[in-house]
Amino acid sequence: MLDVDGVFHVSGEPIAGGAAAVTRLRENGHRLRFVTNNTTRPRAELAGDLRALGISLEDEELQTTPRAAARALEGKRVLALTMAAIVPDLEGVELVGEDAEAVLLGGADETDETGRVFSYTNLARAFHELEGGADLYCLHKNRWWQTGLGPMLDAGAFVAGLEYAAGVEATVLGKPSPAYFAAALEALDADAEMTWMVGDDIEADIAGAQRHGMKTVLVRTGKFRPDAVEAGRVRPDAILSSIAHLPEWLEEQR
Ligand SMILES: [Mg+2]
Repeated sequence: MLDVDGVFHVSGEPIAGGAAAVTRLRENGHRLRFVTNNTTRPRAELAGDLRALGISLEDEELQTTPRAAARALEGKRVLALTMAAIVPDLEGVELVGEDAEAVLLGGADETDETGRVFSYTNLARAFHELEGGADLYCLHKNRWWQTGLGPMLDAGAFVAGLEYAAGVEATVLGKPSPAYFAAALEALDADAEMTWMVGDDIEADIAGAQRHGMKTVLVRTGKFRPDAVEAGRVRPDAILSSIAHLPEWLEEQR
């Protein structure tokens, strides 16, 4: 399982060797699933972006959080604070402005739309629905993500704010939730202990996959911070300088 943001690119700038690594992994017989916590763009577009970086993949190999949300919230009345672009991926969910059964928060991105989606008016509306008994869901609860301009505040802050205000706990649909990893393993038809998770996020990728029984590789790109690894208790099975070194390293483990 390969994380995308911070592993293959940062703000669309490719990380050297990523495309060749995917080719090598396939040649070496590995089944691959691209597992992203991206919450701001539809799957077909994200897959197209990766192909534009030279990475060979089918749309179906890319697992995104909005499609996990569509499974979890099918048929429900949902107040969604999410980017407009992902609405097509929420097929089967009834999107409403009030009287919701669930409130769903997506992630932030680098555009002005983030400010509109997470406006005071919308957050106050969400709070009102939670007070009325709606359940709180989020596509992820990330604190920040790495951009070309440096770390940016992510929507985990808004999720935590609503949890605090309404006295509820959100169900996380993306990484590091067990349901997300379970869906990916099922799609791969793989056992957890035979599967490697490769990512740049010590919490969402590495800790999440370890709790699910998988082996893990942390890459020193994207949001990797050596201080966070040394200070924390999460220990990946390996730390590699980038995705480019993964195929050779994996062959050495066989
Ligand atoms: Mg990442």
